Amino acid sequence: MSDRDDESRSIVRRSRMPENSFRPVVTPVMPSVVYAAGSPDALDDMYEGRAPGYAYAREGHPNADVLASKIDWLEGAEGGVVTASGMAAISAALFAVLSEGDHVIGGTQLYGRTLRMLRQELPRFGVRVSLADPADPAAIAAAIRPETRVIVIETVSNPALRVADIPAIAQIAAENEVLLLVDNTFTTPRAFRPFDHGADIVVHSVTKLLAGHSDATLGYVAARDPEIAQAISDTVATWGMTASPFDCWLAERGLHSFAVRFDRAQENAEELAHFLEDVPGVSQVIYPGLSNHPDHALAQRLFNGNCGNMVSFVLPGGRAAANALVEAAPNIAFAPTLGDIGTTLSHPASSSHRALSAAERDALGLVEGFFRVSVGIEDIELLKAELETAIEAAARAAAPRNLREERA
Ligand SMILES: *Cc1c(COP(=O)(O)O)cnc(C)c1O
Repeated sequence: MSDRDDESRSIVRRSRMPENSFRPVVTPVMPSVVYAAGSPDALDDMYEGRAPGYAYAREGHPNADVLASKIDWLEGAEGGVVTASGMAAISAALFAVLSEGDHVIGGTQLYGRTLRMLRQELPRFGVRVSLADPADPAAIAAAIRPETRVIVIETVSNPALRVADIPAIAQIAAENEVLLLVDNTFTTPRAFRPFDHGADIVVHSVTKLLAGHSDATLGYVAARDPEIAQAISDTVATWGMTASPFDCWLAERGLHSFAVRFDRAQENAEELAHFLEDVPGVSQVIYPGLSNHPDHALAQRLFNGNCGNMVSFVLPGGRAAANALVEAAPNIAFAPTLGDIGTTLSHPASSSHRALSAAERDALGLVEGFFRVSVGIEDIELLKAELETAIEAAARAAAPRNLREERA
């Protein structure tokens, strides 16, 4: 038998990586599901916290840890965990701290799936939920009960872009020994760090601005109290909310340019918001950086001038105008996401808020002509021209038929 045959018989044996005195500059992707240990004693050392290491990827793996520690630096946190999605991060935090009989207060304008988690899922486990306006700390205070355990709010709400007074809500939470969970996805630590203002738990959909390229679905969660952080990490492993190593690797790569992308997208958003105010046919522009925004002063105080990359605007006209706008802007992705390097456009009435009744949508101001723009990093002049053309097309579609014929 030749040496060749010998080798092929052992092909299924795991080979060791060649020893090398240099190290790769780029974090390697580590897809390994299991990690071989040197001895039972070595496993004891790892599980009992005397030595670092990994055993099974659902309980943690290097790519998740590298990414988590980078987001920890940004948020001023320690021991954060990366999860399979933003929703997994929110779920892990809630399941880690809640028990039957507890009460949760959620903001009225939360992300659609978060609202669904609070209103449909938690009650099945005996957790009661009430909603209160996050822009009104007194309303949050009034909703507190003796059994309230957590307040769940977003720094900036979707898609109305209302700003929560987190320092005031944090004070209410602390006085009542209630945990404050802040979803900082829209705002990002570049503009605001919730832990510096009294939050107990911070979550992110890393899918959005932090990863930034719409090619990885991930979340992040960190807690101020190490015991809660440990409970969250155990919940992630037990409920199976672990992130894929490859997604973590992509997100780490995306994160390297996060600050540069954020600054550029924000600069574009500011310019676009001012521009849209002067485009005929736009009835309202919503951006916390505009002086007519209801939370402008609060945003200036909390975000130090960083009002982010999200801009909403409203057109008169119904669905026909909305369809015309989207069709006339083929280069702007009409997609229900945000935080991509490229600008995306979303229409809450037909996507994120479609489950609400028309009356509920009207109460939030989410009429057919309401659009949300996640401004990207492209050339702002291109973006302005495309949106202006699309808004003109929407105005033509909204004009009564006879008027159109008269003009023709
Ligand atoms: C997208 C989003 C989520 C959910 O994140 P996924 O990664 O899609 O699970 C939660 N909160 C906010 C504010 C979001 O925008």
